Amino acid sequence: FWPISGIVARVMRTRQAEVVPDVSFDPNYTRSLRGSLSQITIPMLSGKEINAILVLETNREPRLSLVDLAFAQRLAEHASIAIANAQYNAELTVANNSKSEFVSFVAHELKNPMTSIQGYAAAMSSGMTGQINDQQKSFLDTILKNVERLSTLVTDLNDVTRLQTNNMAMELAPQAVLPLIEDTLRPLEQQIEGKHQHVTVDAPADLPLIHADKNRLLQVLTNLTSNAYKYTPEGGAITLKARLRERNLDSKNRDLGPAVHFTVADTGLGISEADQKKLFTTYFRSTNPEALEQPGTGLGLTITREIILKHGGLLWIESELGKGTQFHFTIPLAPEPVPTP
Ligand code: ADP
Repeated sequence: FWPISGIVARVMRTRQAEVVPDVSFDPNYTRSLRGSLSQITIPMLSGKEINAILVLETNREPRLSLVDLAFAQRLAEHASIAIANAQYNAELTVANNSKSEFVSFVAHELKNPMTSIQGYAAAMSSGMTGQINDQQKSFLDTILKNVERLSTLVTDLNDVTRLQTNNMAMELAPQAVLPLIEDTLRPLEQQIEGKHQHVTVDAPADLPLIHADKNRLLQVLTNLTSNAYKYTPEGGAITLKARLRERNLDSKNRDLGPAVHFTVADTGLGISEADQKKLFTTYFRSTNPEALEQPGTGLGLTITREIILKHGGLLWIESELGKGTQFHFTIPLAPEPVPTP
């Protein structure tokens, strides 16, 4: 425990910095440094609040003077700002953590009722509970479609929160590229066909294995492919391409090692240059009316980017409004297996 000297108490009251060149003359002085001769006391303010008190003492000559006071005051001003920022940051972190806990809690609580709505609606729609007419079938299908959207939103919100709080661990293992692309396309095939879009897979069969979390990479490919599907009009084309990239250079020209370079390309709406700059910010949705016609939350690309970065990969985009979009990303190769003797 450090005793509050009379001078410190006085400075806390008056909020004025003080220099006491000879402490033996100050009746309010309580010694904290053995043999102290002089002392400077400066209140460090944030607005009107005192955040801290800076006390400088010396037990040597020369004694502290008004010149030292002016210098120390300038230092204290800078330090005050840093202390105030650190306090705001600490408060923000606490607020942010409570927000994340709340989102996780709500997401978890919403899952059970949604699963139940989905199950009962699907059972009724399949005719399991008795014959239904066309209108009833159409209503039930609308319920199912909307529950699915809600479920995607809840999962995405949960993922964003986990990424923001660094709570999403990647389980990296060697993965073959072509099966990943096929697994991505299978559940989307019907929708894509429904929009008469043409899909091309362009990937050599002998690509080396990548080092990836299978489910998370499927999430990335699914996000990008379903965006290509959503933001491309009827009859457009979607291409999923993968190539070996021996040298994977980042924006600072650092080589991240060999990787597989994926491209998800479409011939759709494209993204304006202004929108491209905001693309990876959470909840971004273009104001392009045609893009807004599609359902979406503006969370997919934030999640996609974070997952790729967590793999040690890169993500970038090429797009021209009205002409189409290409999302590119890289995923490092799996480490070479150590040969057994
Ligand atoms: P969502 O699609 O759920 O709105 P995303 O984060 O996946 O959210 O995408 C953000 C926005 O970027 C979209 O709302 C859309 O405006 C734009 N976008 C994404 N992919 C494409 C694409 N392939 N073509 C055109 N616009 C796209």
